[in-house]
Amino acid sequence: MTGGARRLIVAIDGPAGAGKSTLARALARALGYTYVDSGAMYRVVGLAARARGIDPADGAAVAELLDGLDFALRPAPEGQRVLLDGRDVTDELRTPAAGEWASRVAALPEVRQRLVERQRRLGEAGGVVMDGRDIGTVVFPGADCKFYVTASAAERARRRAREIGAPASDLPEIQRDIEARDRRDSERVHAPLRAAADMETIDTTGLTADEAVGRVLARVTERAKA
Ligand code: C5P
Repeated sequence: MTGGARRLIVAIDGPAGAGKSTLARALARALGYTYVDSGAMYRVVGLAARARGIDPADGAAVAELLDGLDFALRPAPEGQRVLLDGRDVTDELRTPAAGEWASRVAALPEVRQRLVERQRRLGEAGGVVMDGRDIGTVVFPGADCKFYVTASAAERARRRAREIGAPASDLPEIQRDIEARDRRDSERVHAPLRAAADMETIDTTGLTADEAVGRVLARVTERAKA
């Protein structure tokens, strides 16, 4: 806990599988902050569009779907749970298909505008660690601490494979999927993924999770006292 220190907004951005969510979750726990996984919002919309056969490139149709969606993010001991129509869909959201559909609907400005508003409402009071692709650039450009967390594509593919229990033979395909998603997220017109000049880059390739958390926690604690 931070004692009497200020309750900050901590923004963590970076590509798929870089260790953002592990880092953000551990950091939030250590600080007594709320963890918000903004990617889950894009995943919910992607999953719902897929389930209803909506074209993920049709901005008007996906926006209409989103306006009628009843979903909520709930802080939980393990990080965050996601409810859709009152049903816990957290585990379904982690599938590669949900990630793929998320990155498609995430290219739509109609979707981004709506979700960014929700993210701002969740974080504006401070005491929050939020991770995503545009948290430090668009959602909270004035965040107290901004990190860009990355790792090599090969390392990210290995971690993703471990997370979903895939065999080593799937690694090339997982890496290709990750690179395709990186490209789509970095090259899109609206809120592309990028490391802004005022973010501190943390390359987790050669770091253990504990080392990465220690590095970021030291920074945030220092900042909270300032
Ligand atoms: O972080 P996660 O892998 O759950 O994100 C899924 C997808 O949602 C990303 O590939 C990206 O396209 C989109 N996303 C985004 N902006 C965010 C968080 C996620 O565009 N702040």
